[in-house]
Amino acid sequence: MGFFDDEAREIYDGKDIHELNDIFTKNEEIAEKLRKLVPKAHQKIINENKDHDGDEEEVAINRAGNIRFKTDIVDIKSFQQLSDVMKKSVQENKNVKAVGSFAAFSEVTETNGYLLKPVTNSYVAKTDLQLLNEETISQAKKDDIVYYDVKWGTRIFEILPALKKDNRAFFNVGGWTGQDIVGVNATSTHGSGITLPPLCSLIVSVSMVVPGDKLYKVEPTNGITDPSKFSQKFPNITLIQDDKTFNAAVVTIGSLGVTYEVTVWTIPLYNIIERREEATWTNVKSILKQKPYSTNPYLKFRNTEIWISPYTDYALITLRDLATNEDVKNYSKPEAKELFQEFIALPVVQEVSKVLSITVGGALYLLLLLFPAITPVVNEEALRSQYHKDPVADSYDLIYNPFGPGFVNDFKVISVEFSFSMKDDNHILATEAILKTLKELQHKHNLCIHGPASMRFSAASSQYLSMGNGSSDETRAYLEMIILVYVCMIKIFEFSFKFLFLFYLFVFWFFFLIKYRTFGLIIINVYLIH
Ligand SMILES: Cc1cc2nc3c(=O)[nH]c(=O)nc-3n(C[C@H](O)[C@H](O)[C@H](O)COP(=O)(O)OP(=O)(O)OC[C@H]3O[C@@H](n4cnc5c(N)ncnc54)[C@H](O)[C@@H]3O)c2cc1C
Repeated sequence: MGFFDDEAREIYDGKDIHELNDIFTKNEEIAEKLRKLVPKAHQKIINENKDHDGDEEEVAINRAGNIRFKTDIVDIKSFQQLSDVMKKSVQENKNVKAVGSFAAFSEVTETNGYLLKPVTNSYVAKTDLQLLNEETISQAKKDDIVYYDVKWGTRIFEILPALKKDNRAFFNVGGWTGQDIVGVNATSTHGSGITLPPLCSLIVSVSMVVPGDKLYKVEPTNGITDPSKFSQKFPNITLIQDDKTFNAAVVTIGSLGVTYEVTVWTIPLYNIIERREEATWTNVKSILKQKPYSTNPYLKFRNTEIWISPYTDYALITLRDLATNEDVKNYSKPEAKELFQEFIALPVVQEVSKVLSITVGGALYLLLLLFPAITPVVNEEALRSQYHKDPVADSYDLIYNPFGPGFVNDFKVISVEFSFSMKDDNHILATEAILKTLKELQHKHNLCIHGPASMRFSAASSQYLSMGNGSSDETRAYLEMIILVYVCMIKIFEFSFKFLFLFYLFVFWFFFLIKYRTFGLIIINVYLIH
């Protein structure tokens, strides 16, 4: 396997991107060689990946641009319209699938029938207590729980501020807030913390419509709704209160009808204090094995994340706990530091980006392909840049998501995540095996991942399709890895994302897609679970 190996080696044969940059800026002859090589490499990738464009009739494209399929797209603007499509789908014998923010990297959104997209329709309101049973109301008072109804089409970044106004919060959030309330849970998105289940456990009631336009409200066996009050007010909606049905009704990957509203539980607003420690994976893995987890130096924290430099031994540990108001006064707020930020400014990256008119993310990716030996150092330095010596403290949403619905940087990536039971240190063995395979792939084939491998944890989920579901209630560990996607027309991607739901721009985008062809390159062939 080679990617202009000889020509690239003539330019630089070392392992340090800074050294490559120095040579590029000081040696005009080498700089000229690189300027000639990058357009050739760029063209080679385009030629080799023409197939990734697929059928020119494809119309639905997810946010990362790596999933495309032909379908009938319907922008759902009202409940009546949703009902009509569900009726029509049966008459026409067509499948129906809904999407939220269309961010999932895998095929879970694909359908050959109708693809339903919510026209942004943010709705977050306290649940009507009149319909809840007495036990739920008194228990909620005791536990200081407040329920909210949230409609499909509402993004996490719209919900959190609405809750905050009422001094309420979710018990946990993931690493991004751009997802829709239904979409985020249909794939069992999770944050981290050994006592905290995936976010689908926020949901206590699911309102869905199935093909034929039949309406259901699905809850656990001891659900929050009073059946007799509910049937009086909504005689046309079937209330199902059954654990087994409910455990299939939240994490559905879109396969069980269209969820149009959910009810979530919230807790009082809280602050988080975050510490970071630098370590080595060799040490970390022995610490992670210490039982019980309630006294484990890492896992006893409310949230723990272990970021591993995949080709070196460096690891960065994030430990988070509930903070007092004093902590928030005494410590600074988190600083949103872009991953890879120190490489973006390097003249060699800037110049490649200019020569090819591609993003700096694309330029860095091309350099990593040409000079794969620099990847370990790039990954480790990117990880080191996220270290902070002093703790930071702030409201939970700002600690977990300092970028809000924005991204860690403007690079296009897709990620793959594996989930493991933690029984008998299974997760450590599995992580070791993955790291070994990554090193082999790098060594033998020059194939690398681009960024840290991030290890997160959760309590078990009762949802059958959740990655957190296991044979018993044991805790789960996850390992996520990111891969840069080579998008040569990224400017057009950004443009089209902003106005994805506007028809005239969709046509414009489609025209460019056919004319110039954009594509994504998946470096390792693995299952994209999320
Ligand atoms: C930048 C980024 C960061 C991420 N961070 C994390 C993280 O920290 N932790 C984590 O676990 N995951 C993470 N993910 C994965 C992400 O949370 C999931 O892919 C999530 O499902 C995307 O939500 P969405 O609203 O875009 O759903 P979509 O991609 O639109 O859909 C996902 C699934 O939900 C179904 N669906 C959507 N709406 C409905 C509906 N109304 N009725 C029935 N089914 C429906 C779809 O059919 C599909 O199967 C991240 C993804 C990105 C892009």
